[in-house]
Amino acid sequence: MRLAKKVALITGAGSGIGRESALLFAKEGAQVVVCDVNATGGQQTVDQIQAAGGTATFVQADVSQAAEAKAMIEAAESTYGQLNVLFNNAGIFHGGDNSVLDTEEDIWELTINVNLKGVFLGCKYGIPALQRAGGGSIINTASFVAVMGAATPQIAYTASKGGVLAMTREIAVEFARQNIRANSLCPGPVQTPLLDELMSDPARKHRRMVHIPPGRLAQATEIANAALFLASDESSYVNGATFLVDGGISAAYVTPE
Ligand code: NAD
Repeated sequence: MRLAKKVALITGAGSGIGRESALLFAKEGAQVVVCDVNATGGQQTVDQIQAAGGTATFVQADVSQAAEAKAMIEAAESTYGQLNVLFNNAGIFHGGDNSVLDTEEDIWELTINVNLKGVFLGCKYGIPALQRAGGGSIINTASFVAVMGAATPQIAYTASKGGVLAMTREIAVEFARQNIRANSLCPGPVQTPLLDELMSDPARKHRRMVHIPPGRLAQATEIANAALFLASDESSYVNGATFLVDGGISAAYVTPE
């Protein structure tokens, strides 16, 4: 098993990419700490893992709150004795997030707080735990929009993901000699509840779909497979990477008809 004897904490594991990653990590032998602000979704993920014979526990935490971020790391260590994999995956997209000209300040602040400060706090409290374990792997979820601009804008979300990318690179460099790796996972559009909000407008949906070379959205399991690689020792020399799992969107100039 690819994650045997490892303890993995995943934020936003009550839905989408986080849930599929939690299920896969547990299948590969990890003891999984499922964190989410949504207790119902988080507990459902734990129930699914346990029903499949895996090991998991749920911790309710809002990643944008320092005390809760600190507590989720403490829960990982007190429950399973150590932390080896820190997957800062929780993120939001707000329906009112649009052009820089008309995005309200409160939407900007909410998005930056969850998507960027949440990753900062996860690392702030999680890295000492990885140090205590003798090293580990950090996976921070950014997005392909961290490296590309869109004329169907989502300015706060894009800025938050750009921040995750830059922050992760710096963490990767600072802690490399302590056996800690940090990589940004940059999914393309994935079929999850988060994207449903974005795709609810048919015109916006069409403008996005036309730029995806395979002509389809990713499934959350396809992103979880990439996260598994970054979590496992198979990626032992992958550090500071912008790990794009985008179906080739960022490589495309003109897509197939
Ligand atoms: P999702 O909405 O299915 O799941 C996100 C989970 O995060 C939910 O369970 C939600 O309750 C939780 N969450 C939200 N705010 C939180 C908070 N403050 N504290 C703790 N948990 C919180 O979304 P998803 O598509 O699985 O997204 C996962 C990550 O992938 C996000 O960071 C997202 O930005 C990123 N991403 C998604 C896509 C996509 O197309 N779906 C593309 C690129 C990147």
